[in-house]
Amino acid sequence: MPSLERYVYFFGNGRADGSAAMRDILGGKGAGLAEMANLGLPVPPGFTLSARLCMTYLEQGTFPEELREEVDRHLKQTERATKKKFGDPRNPLLVAVRSGAAVSMPGMMETILNLGLNDETVQGLIAASGNARFAYDSYRRFVQMYGDVVFDLGKAPFAEVLGEATRRRKVKRDIDLPADDLKALVGEFKAIIQSRTGLPFPDDPQRQLWGAIEAVFQSWRTRRALDYRRVHGIPDAMGTAVNVVAMVYGNMGDDCGTGVAFTRDCRTGERVLNGDLLINAQGEDVVSGARTPEPIARLKRGKFAKIYRDLERLAAKLERHFKDVQDIEFTFEHGKLYMLQTRRAQRTGIAAVRSAVEMAAEGLISQDEAVQRVPPQDLDQLFHPMVDPRASVTVLAKGLPASPGAATGEAVFDADEAEALHKKGRAVILVRPETSPEDFHGIVAARAVLTARGGMTSHAAIVARGMGKTCVVGAKDIEVDPAAGRFRANGRVVKRGQTITVDGTTGRVLLGAAKLVEPKVGAHYRKLMNWADARRRLRVRANADTPEDARQARELGAEGIGLCRTEHMFFQEGRITPMREMIVAQDEAGRRSALAKLLPMQRADFEGIFEAMAGLPVTIRLLDPPLHEFLPHTRQEIAGLAKVMKLPVAKLERLVDSLVEANPMLGHRGCRLGITYPEITEMQARAIFEAAGHVAGRGKKVTVEVMVPLVADVQELVLQAKIIRRVAQEVFHAEGRAVPYLVGTMIELPRAALTADEIAKEAEFFSFGTNDLTQTTFGLSRDDAGRFLPLYVERGILPEDPFQVLDQAGVGKLIELAVRLGRGTRHDLKIGICGEHGGEPSSVTFCHHAGMNYVSCSPFRVPIARLAAAQAALEEAGVINRTKATV
Ligand code: PEP
Ligand code: MG
Repeated sequence: MPSLERYVYFFGNGRADGSAAMRDILGGKGAGLAEMANLGLPVPPGFTLSARLCMTYLEQGTFPEELREEVDRHLKQTERATKKKFGDPRNPLLVAVRSGAAVSMPGMMETILNLGLNDETVQGLIAASGNARFAYDSYRRFVQMYGDVVFDLGKAPFAEVLGEATRRRKVKRDIDLPADDLKALVGEFKAIIQSRTGLPFPDDPQRQLWGAIEAVFQSWRTRRALDYRRVHGIPDAMGTAVNVVAMVYGNMGDDCGTGVAFTRDCRTGERVLNGDLLINAQGEDVVSGARTPEPIARLKRGKFAKIYRDLERLAAKLERHFKDVQDIEFTFEHGKLYMLQTRRAQRTGIAAVRSAVEMAAEGLISQDEAVQRVPPQDLDQLFHPMVDPRASVTVLAKGLPASPGAATGEAVFDADEAEALHKKGRAVILVRPETSPEDFHGIVAARAVLTARGGMTSHAAIVARGMGKTCVVGAKDIEVDPAAGRFRANGRVVKRGQTITVDGTTGRVLLGAAKLVEPKVGAHYRKLMNWADARRRLRVRANADTPEDARQARELGAEGIGLCRTEHMFFQEGRITPMREMIVAQDEAGRRSALAKLLPMQRADFEGIFEAMAGLPVTIRLLDPPLHEFLPHTRQEIAGLAKVMKLPVAKLERLVDSLVEANPMLGHRGCRLGITYPEITEMQARAIFEAAGHVAGRGKKVTVEVMVPLVADVQELVLQAKIIRRVAQEVFHAEGRAVPYLVGTMIELPRAALTADEIAKEAEFFSFGTNDLTQTTFGLSRDDAGRFLPLYVERGILPEDPFQVLDQAGVGKLIELAVRLGRGTRHDLKIGICGEHGGEPSSVTFCHHAGMNYVSCSPFRVPIARLAAAQAALEEAGVINRTKATV
């Protein structure tokens, strides 16, 4: 029984069967051609074979029976529209067969031009163009592409013969060959096909067409297309459509040309028509870089002025219609302009902001739409240098884009060396198998950090992100040998001192010094963010551990601190020793004496943070990480500490050994430390309240939230809260001044989420620690997951890395439950998130819908979270992005 599904869609002559809304079926190119035809734009007529056919064909190896008849019908329609006939030797219709998926995959799939040519129809083309050289050039290009794509012979055998021909004639370019040579090439190319495949080149245009259609569908599965989809998260099941479009020629003479135009500058956002163009050339010449194009402004004056005016008018019409910046392919043949494609233009973050704000000012879109228009993640680019998108680069390896921006420097494999070189004014990149707190000074000194292992919440990632420092982690193709001072990556070796570039925005590691561009934020950004702030409900705080970070976060729009990881303060020089003394102390007295040394340091840091955040809430978390993270590891470090502590080295070694845990992230950490050693909690509470009192005494408003980590049972919180409240009273009494404060907890263990009603009896706020909550819900280690998670994502087992994008189906369910249970006990319970997800747009949307009060993220992600929160609010309010389904 014939199926009712339609497979083929016509466009041309002012009408189309499809539209821009049918991108899933027609692909981006097909949808754009259809919409342009509907708008009455000059589009060469043709038809699109549905992307749905692609998967059926690839799975079954055949087409549905009725397809042939449908294609024939549409071919006839195209013949009528062009007044030409497919296969007619006198007036031949020639077509381009072009791929086009719903998502743009530039250059990944195949295109065949000039299809329909054979020894007879070429005569018709000679007659129509009056140019034998052009006709034979088109013919040889066609046979060449056909041999490459349909017969799968690649480009090389044809390029070789072509190269010989140009050498023989002593001409630089193919188009300079005389017609007879080009004609001879056609024969030679056909002979190559025959000899290599044993099959003749098909002269029958119908056979040519079906061969090309099948080849384009098959190109969906080429290695490069598969890889591209992996990297960009494009589903394999999408398939590509095939567009069969009447040929128009940009290479028929000096009054012909072809190019690409953008309605605004995609690097800056400036409203100016721009692009590239080649006179007397085919589109592939622009794309392949075979010839160097000229700016389209060159058309403005002289004999092409009308073309330019037409292009300007049509480009403006397209932008007004799609209400977005367009990327247009055009060709002009003997002075007549044709539009071959239009699609939403890719743009930098800066261009996205400027064009959205200006389009709102021009009345093209509303302020709501402008806010919806900018992908929050793209704001990243406004604050970091970027690898120039136009620079040609050598990619050594790819890892996780842990902290954005790009930096160049010499590879260094040791934190001390990084610091020493930095002090000498050298730019260094710290390359480590992974990083630990001991590398902290190296991270501070380095321009960027690169690790072979670790995930998005690994130590290096969090620390670097917090500092706004470029970082790539989990680059699993690199093998780091710190002792030898080198790393290997995909067959290359990079030695100590050699220059590399780390691109933390994309996760790429590049050889040499890539060209970087320095972005600036300006009035457009501020305007957009004002619009966003007026629309969001979620508050946005920052994770910040130092006064400097706090100040920076505030400048970036943070409305408080959602997480101050107090342990980060101990990594600094001069502090690690008393910290270690505290950890290895053998009794309470020893611990208290070490803690007494730490107290003033913590108090000073807290004062700085309260000052920087005056008037805004500050959440300070008590000590959390497993103690072993602070311990000395090398003999030298142990000896140094033994000296300070006046202990025999061997004894200290035994003590350090005794603190080793098999599974430290599930071990003696979080509130478990404060329960076994209440004096740690006491010291920290004292430092917090004394600092708060001092700052309040200077007339600043201080709002303190003390947060207890890793609570599994309410009883743990009860015990810790009791100490905190007691110390608060003691300090307030001693200082004669009270400051407002709350005691709350992190929800970062499944049991805490499941018993949130009980916990809320004690907690005055919840903050979801989704790094640990993800780790414990999945039962996978956040530090080791880098070894297999990328593969999970690659194979589609998990849609995303759950440490980057909140797992709404699992972890999200626990969050929703905990919010409901918590607010059931305490209806005004303040709730936020401080895991790394707090700065990831889709996770921010989830937090909005979950009814949280705020999200907290690293300072540089604050703008991203602000914009994502505004977009979530607009979506919830039903403000629909009226932008046409851009193609
Ligand atoms: C968390 O677990 O989500 C969290 C914020 O704490 P940390 O990353 O310091 O464990
Ligand atoms: Mg945690």
